[in-house]
Amino acid sequence: MINFSEPEEIKEVLASLDRFIEVEIKPLEKKFAKELEDERYLYDENGYFTKEIQEALKDVRMKSANAGFYTMFGMPELGGNGDQFGPVAVALIYESLTKKYGENLFVDEIFPVGLFTGGLTPVLLGLQDELKEKMLPELASGESLLCFGLSEPEAGSDVWSMKTKAVKDGDHWVINGTKQWITNSPYADYAMIFAITDLELVANRKGGISTFLVPFDGETCVNSSVIPYLGSIGSRIGTISLDNARVHESYIIGELHDGFGAALHGVDIGRVVMAAQCVGTAQWALDIALDYAKQRKTFGVTIENHQAVQMQFAECAMDIYAGRNMLLHCAWKMENQEKLPLKEISMIKAFTTEMGFRVVDRCMQICGGMGLTNEMELEKAWRHMRATRVPDGTAEIQRRTIARRLLKGDQSFN
Ligand SMILES: Cc1cc2nc3c(=O)[nH]c(=O)nc-3n(C[C@H](O)[C@H](O)[C@H](O)COP(=O)(O)OP(=O)(O)OC[C@H]3O[C@@H](n4cnc5c(N)ncnc54)[C@H](O)[C@@H]3O)c2cc1C
Repeated sequence: MINFSEPEEIKEVLASLDRFIEVEIKPLEKKFAKELEDERYLYDENGYFTKEIQEALKDVRMKSANAGFYTMFGMPELGGNGDQFGPVAVALIYESLTKKYGENLFVDEIFPVGLFTGGLTPVLLGLQDELKEKMLPELASGESLLCFGLSEPEAGSDVWSMKTKAVKDGDHWVINGTKQWITNSPYADYAMIFAITDLELVANRKGGISTFLVPFDGETCVNSSVIPYLGSIGSRIGTISLDNARVHESYIIGELHDGFGAALHGVDIGRVVMAAQCVGTAQWALDIALDYAKQRKTFGVTIENHQAVQMQFAECAMDIYAGRNMLLHCAWKMENQEKLPLKEISMIKAFTTEMGFRVVDRCMQICGGMGLTNEMELEKAWRHMRATRVPDGTAEIQRRTIARRLLKGDQSFN
């Protein structure tokens, strides 16, 4: 029998997280109220977070690591507590946090493994032993930040069309190319870079792409621009330029010519996190809209009395219930079944990201003009939900995977 009620240990984690947020995050929200309210103070003229904000985000990361939150979903082999907190716990904790705190820049820093590029991301399992020993302390403490450099200007969904190449030179590799849309690259210390190491294998789509850990050295590997999107004047996303970047062969992650093998370690849990954030954000938005509808009057009554508004609430509730149960069932399967439920992981990624957008959009509509202002923060959530439909495999690529699984005989919905 599947039981999705929050187990005691998760309630305890959530209670201590609440205390942590009260003590460490709330004062930052006060200190940076002006920056959080107005992007002109949050970003500098090139679209980077200001130095002060960057320092505050790092400080949160390090305090979160010190309190044990930052590494709690990390694999035990990497020194984390992932044996106690599997996909169901990941889903419940992220959902709960987003439902309560909505779009909170500083809370986002607590569990970076959500992006499968921060903290003790499972991708680090592929590091060679010596490098693992050297790197883990600085990554686990939040001192250093990683990013995941796969996409390129001409290679998004179709990763095989990448152009970045690494050429062997003695016991080093020399990498040239450009990576685009890379989350955290403007602020990262290291990039996981995917590059072609064997053209023939790539041509036959049989491998030939390797993953390298490349330090941002300010010369041969740099973040060359920030990419503002969806109306923002800055972002966490950037472009990486690699110009004869030399890395020792011990910096290869996973097997040579099998870069995707290492990368896939992190992708699935990243999708659970994204789905949980969408399910939590949808509930956060619905709470706001329900409160508003009980106060705002039109035609002599509060708008909660209008049937057209009630119908929108009902649509939101059906969406959230479906998305939440899909998510938890899929997380339960990941935890309890031998084979990864690939069809279901794609279904939750596609469904919850679209669901989150629909729900926040309806809630904005219910709040009328107020819903569009940044005072209610719904528009920030709306932009975030809209963005989730592209990274980590677009909604169309997820449908492609679902259909392929069905056609291969994976027709079970148990
Ligand atoms: C906010 C954000 C964060 C990101 N973070 C990272 C990151 O950290 N690291 C990283 O490496 N990348 C990152 N990306 C890149 C992201 O993975 C790509 O944008 C995504 O894979 C889509 O690639 P594309 O933008 O080149 O679109 P394209 O691949 O050019 O696709 C364009 C359109 O065609 C559709 N399409 C393409 N192929 C098919 C097909 N076979 N069948 C049906 N439809 C298809 C797509 O669904 C899409 O609608 C991020 C992107 C965003 C927006």
